[in-house]
Amino acid sequence: MNPITPIINGMAITFKHMFMKPVTLQYPSEQPKVASRFRGLHALNMSHDKAKCVACYLCPTVCPAKCITVEAGEDANHEKFASVYEIDMLRCIFCGYCVEACPVDAVKMTETFELANYSRKDFIYSKERLLEKK
Ligand code: SF4
Ligand code: SF4
Repeated sequence: MNPITPIINGMAITFKHMFMKPVTLQYPSEQPKVASRFRGLHALNMSHDKAKCVACYLCPTVCPAKCITVEAGEDANHEKFASVYEIDMLRCIFCGYCVEACPVDAVKMTETFELANYSRKDFIYSKERLLEKK
């Protein structure tokens, strides 16, 4: 084989890729479009201006990372609600089991993936923070 041929073939591949659509993004000025089934930061769903969660404890039970804390309260109508609902995002493995287990569709996963923070305590998302994400 002509010793120049591999060089020509290599250069041909290089030039072909130079004019193809880039696969990289100028992040963060350009944001990626995540897949429709992407599992990002959680959010709590609301109904009639209050969280849908009925503090059934299914999601903390099914969570393999044991990163959900729920405490039940009782309102004036003797209905259960989550007086405390927290997720430790440092431990969460984004498996989505909590969303699948919830019988009242109270928790969902959003497309938010930018979770960087400066302190460990800021990775614990309270009920109020999760409701804001809605
Ligand atoms: S996504 Fe998985 S690990 Fe994260 S809180 Fe839900 S059940 Fe737990
Ligand atoms: S989010 Fe759903 S599964 Fe978890 S405690 Fe509330 S109602 Fe139960």
